[in-house]
Amino acid sequence: AAKEAPVDCIFCRIVAGKAPSKKVYEDQYVLAFWDIRPRAKVHLLVIPKQHVASLKELDELPVETRAALLSACVRVAKDQGILDKGFRVITNAGKDASQSVFHLHFHVVGGEQLREDAI
Ligand code: 5GP
Ligand code: ZN
Repeated sequence: AAKEAPVDCIFCRIVAGKAPSKKVYEDQYVLAFWDIRPRAKVHLLVIPKQHVASLKELDELPVETRAALLSACVRVAKDQGILDKGFRVITNAGKDASQSVFHLHFHVVGGEQLREDAI
């Protein structure tokens, strides 16, 4: 059985509807919403509804969720109209990557020419 969502996790609170977000996509496995501090014209976050801390714990997620995460990244990029001009998908895992929210999330960024070191 899936572990209970940590009450202090901001992204679990967003999934539960206990914290606000600007949602752009949702299905049974994943949620996508605007980053609260966008660093590009388009800056979305794609997260699994089930809590895992980072990509390091990817294998704890059902295979359906793992597939849904990457598909959602492409889908939201398409919906934002940035699929053809180019976009970037990034996930920070752990200390050296400066991860700041410990609920797995993929940044989907684009809508402008991205610097090599952006996001
Ligand atoms: P990380 O540094 O862990 O890769 O990325 C965390 C991201 O979550 C940051 O880009 C930050 O702006 C975003 N973020 C942090 N808290 C919230 C929040 O409450 N709502 C939303 N929409 N984004 C958040
Ligand atoms: Zn969480």
